[in-house]
Amino acid sequence: MPDVIADPETDPQATSAVDPARVRAWTRDVVASGPPLTTSTPMTGAPLATFATSTADDVGVALDRARAVQRRWAEVPVEERARRLLAVHDLVLARQSELLDLVQLESGKARVHAFEEVGDVAVVARYYARRGPRMLAEVSRGGVFPLLTRTTEHHRPRGVVGVVAPWNYPLSLAVTDALPALLAGNAVLLRPDPQGSLTALAAVALLVEAGLPAGLVQVVLGPGDPTGAAVVERADHVCFTGSTATGRVVAQAAGRRLVGASLELGGKNTLYVADDADLRRAVPGAVRACFSSAGQLCVSAERIAVHRAVADEFRDRFLDAVGRLRLSTGLTWDADLGSLVGPAQRDRVLAHVEDAVAKGATVLAGGRARPDVGPYVVEPTVLTGVTSAMACRDEETFGPVVALTEVGSDDEAVALANDTEYGLHASVWTRDVRRGRALAARIRTGTVGVNDGYAAAWGSVASPMGGMKASGVGRRHGREGLLKYTESQNVTVQRLVGVGEAPGLGGEAYARTLTGALRVLRRIGLP
Ligand code: NAD
Repeated sequence: MPDVIADPETDPQATSAVDPARVRAWTRDVVASGPPLTTSTPMTGAPLATFATSTADDVGVALDRARAVQRRWAEVPVEERARRLLAVHDLVLARQSELLDLVQLESGKARVHAFEEVGDVAVVARYYARRGPRMLAEVSRGGVFPLLTRTTEHHRPRGVVGVVAPWNYPLSLAVTDALPALLAGNAVLLRPDPQGSLTALAAVALLVEAGLPAGLVQVVLGPGDPTGAAVVERADHVCFTGSTATGRVVAQAAGRRLVGASLELGGKNTLYVADDADLRRAVPGAVRACFSSAGQLCVSAERIAVHRAVADEFRDRFLDAVGRLRLSTGLTWDADLGSLVGPAQRDRVLAHVEDAVAKGATVLAGGRARPDVGPYVVEPTVLTGVTSAMACRDEETFGPVVALTEVGSDDEAVALANDTEYGLHASVWTRDVRRGRALAARIRTGTVGVNDGYAAAWGSVASPMGGMKASGVGRRHGREGLLKYTESQNVTVQRLVGVGEAPGLGGEAYARTLTGALRVLRRIGLP
């Protein structure tokens, strides 16, 4: 594969230009007759790429194409499908530098945070390739009448799964929800966010190179409405990642059509530093939890609850670490924090800070835009004195802003973590792992990290991950993350005598015989 990025020696726009020939090659098979859309890179604000968008009718055509390929794909033995997922694992690691460039150019994030996405794709591909076939295998189960009835559970593909992905993790969220759907024998209709389209297109080219049939993943390009909405209106199952507000719209559309929908939505996540926390680990852990991908991460910590006993020491060390973070928009490894994705996100973050300050909060660190670094860069910001009168107390900021609050007990920390409409993620720091587990049981979030910010829970893909309350419906990862893309089918074979058949018996005698048989089955311990 040739380099996508222009040579910085010869091209002054090297950190913003993507070779148009490359974009043309990636979009050659995309069904798109709608108006063109030009994206720009948050790194500099300069134009990045122009591509035609997919109308609602185009989405219908793409769906038909995907369905045709899916029929043949479902016939490929699952072990062979798994082998191709392992090839995805190898290719994404081998070609990471191109993907890292694209993720950075589209999202603005630091390279080290872009690498999380490469690692995520590899981990998910390996997990489902190795464990998925057994989860999908048919299982023989006891029937209603022992010996006479044999039942088997099957997992049939749903057909075409629609994946609607946001911009904040353009590689991860385009690919990792698609991989289990593909392993289960489905096709995928993928609508990446416009600001993640190049990454998604490059990733789909890699899937084909890894051996997935061309056309099995149909990419459609364009805005949420009409393109994303058209996917939701047509797919056999919808996997949506985005805000809670849009998630409710998607859920209504899926409900009207009676198709399944898994919704991965917003969060307002608390990180608790208990009085026995190891601050040498908790401080850098909190920095990562708050500022990875410049806080544009659904499981990012936007509230820190610190126990009074360690509050002063934690605050001083945390502010020191935050003050040393290196801001940059280069395609290099030396930045700790990159840019926000665009002007709307920058303005939202700054508005939250200004609102909090106007209502009495104190800025302990950051709080300002940094146009000298990049047009949408905002400093990592630590606030204290945040109250429920301020927008950033309860609304998701989705940026590098965290509110520091002192608490006097575990109970207060749990109350703060649960005092939100969301239920996505929490993080607890304590030397006593048993205490950490007990706290987790009281927190209403889909994941809890003990002595880790978010990455361990996210990367532990054998356990399901998702949101409680307004943070979502359904889960990704684990068995649930695969079987949601299947229809369970019960195939039951009845031998010799049919249920309800009573040769030579009247209804009453039949009922008496059956009552006796049921009592025997109960006595011998049958489930
Ligand atoms: P958003 O809801 O505004 O948009 C999400 C995506 O949905 C966008 O690509 C948008 O174009 C598309 N969209 C908009 N209207 C649509 C419609 N009617 N039908 C189909 N698609 C439509 O969210 P955003 O602000 O772009 O993304 C950030 C949000 O995503 C945050 O709330 C964040 O917490 C959440 N998020 C959640 C997870 C998770 O796993 N729980 C992961 C990443 C982001």
